[in-house]
Amino acid sequence: MRTLLCGGTLALADGAKQGDLLLEDGKIARVGGEIDAPDAQRVDATGCIVLPGAIDTHTHFDLPVSGTVTADDFASGTRAAVLGGTTVVLDFATQEKGHTLAEAFEVWQHKLGRGISCDVGFHMAVTDWNERTSREIDAMTALGVTSYKFYLAYPALMVEDDAIYEALVRLKQAGVIAGFHCENGRLVAALTRQLLASGLTSCRAHPLSRPPEVEAEAIDRLLHIAALAGAPVNIVHLSSKAGLEAVRRARARGQRVFVETCPQYLTMDDAVYAREDGAKFVCSPPLRKAEDCAALWEALANGEIDTIGTDHCSFRYDVQKSGKADFTQIPNGMPGVEHRLALMMTEGVKAGRISLAQLVQMLCENPAKLFGLYPQKGALLPGADADVVLWDPSLRHTITAESQAQRLDYTPLEGVSVCGGVRAVWVRGKCAVDDGKWLGHNLGRYVARTKPIFQEN
Ligand code: MN
Ligand code: MN
Repeated sequence: MRTLLCGGTLALADGAKQGDLLLEDGKIARVGGEIDAPDAQRVDATGCIVLPGAIDTHTHFDLPVSGTVTADDFASGTRAAVLGGTTVVLDFATQEKGHTLAEAFEVWQHKLGRGISCDVGFHMAVTDWNERTSREIDAMTALGVTSYKFYLAYPALMVEDDAIYEALVRLKQAGVIAGFHCENGRLVAALTRQLLASGLTSCRAHPLSRPPEVEAEAIDRLLHIAALAGAPVNIVHLSSKAGLEAVRRARARGQRVFVETCPQYLTMDDAVYAREDGAKFVCSPPLRKAEDCAALWEALANGEIDTIGTDHCSFRYDVQKSGKADFTQIPNGMPGVEHRLALMMTEGVKAGRISLAQLVQMLCENPAKLFGLYPQKGALLPGADADVVLWDPSLRHTITAESQAQRLDYTPLEGVSVCGGVRAVWVRGKCAVDDGKWLGHNLGRYVARTKPIFQEN
């Protein structure tokens, strides 16, 4: 099967270039110039941008959380992803305390069972680091799990400093990478007790229970432990200027630190917690001040941030609002997998804050390299998987709960207008989205990843 995208603007690593793109047997066959392929199905890409399929480095589909479960499972989550131009999501298989990584992997593989619309890989979230866990790392690499995640917050998930150190030494030896949720969980607990005791129980208290200092302290501590272990690390969902400054200090010491941020930390601030429906925005880390957003945009423009994931973790508003009287009862998380590319195109590229080439680096190429998918994915290269997005800058859309594919009764982006939209998407050469509509095929697969590509210092 051959598809020829004609006359579009190709988003290549070294900049945008006018030209054709030929997809053949699931791979990108030829890139650029005028391509003659009379037997191929022709798609007129005039006026459109042709992008590599975007990679979402951070989703939580079908995640059980304190008595409830996320609204999106892998079927609805990957459908929303592909409609928004994302062709790979990296979700988190989560080890339960007392269980093995192999058991976690099997549980999460099973969740893909009902069909997925884009490719899915798993980071492994480790909650119980011990000798047995350490011995499982090579088996996980063989299964295509080459990145890990540790939590410095949440009592049920968090790991202590000695475990972090030992894990980093082991993961470095295995040539794989670890990401960290950086908030000091014990400080959060103390601040929360103080707020509740003083009668501050509404979601206005949520950001006060997890201020920037809580993130910055955790990043500082983690990066000192990483320095001792001599290991590179990835900071997930960086939200604050204070946290960014902690990263800068470690980089100035010569450490290799990767950073992910999320669209919500760039485009929303903590004023929303004073709203009647503030529970919709309860996520951790919380939304920050406008000056934090500005610092993160500047860091994106400077190349200090490597990847943009969504931390998509969706709970219905009717579930979240049941915790309105006590903010600690609101399940933490926001949706986002569907609108990342549109938001970053609008608020980033169209607004002149970042270039199209930077966007492609942060949404496609950097995630592919850091998470062992390059050059199979992440760039328009001959031989790569034909994961391709046709982006039409002339489209206009206002985001509403009604019109979204995310399986939810609200969107935090209600009424937000975006410039441009996804016209079509191919997943390994097969058309998944045409004229902005999902074609109903489950084209996704579990994707086994190789080791990350990064330069040792
Ligand atoms: Mn997190
Ligand atoms: Mn997360």
